[in-house]
Amino acid sequence: MGRYNEFIWPVKCPSCGAAEALSFQGYIGLLQWERFQEGDDVFDREPQHRRREVGPDAGLEGRSFWAYGLGDCPRCRQTLWARIDVRKGRFVGLVLVAEPANMYDWGPL
Ligand SMILES: [Zn+2]
Repeated sequence: MGRYNEFIWPVKCPSCGAAEALSFQGYIGLLQWERFQEGDDVFDREPQHRRREVGPDAGLEGRSFWAYGLGDCPRCRQTLWARIDVRKGRFVGLVLVAEPANMYDWGPL
């Protein structure tokens, strides 16, 4: 897996029922293993690399879009997929979804 960021959000595991804030890996923002909480601007961190990598597509800074995220339950190890929503460049939330056919899919909001 290449570079990604982590998105923290409270979810309830559909497998075991554990409810807690989990971390989901997503190709969103300036990709350099940053952690984002609700409301954080996903593009405003200081670039750590000369060659910037931005996901899920160049030119999305300040825009509204969704992309997939991957996490797992710390209690039962169930793999969890999420749709991560970004509005006007800020992480606003995520919802659990079924495993996507293509984890690199994304779209405008
Ligand atoms: Zn679980």
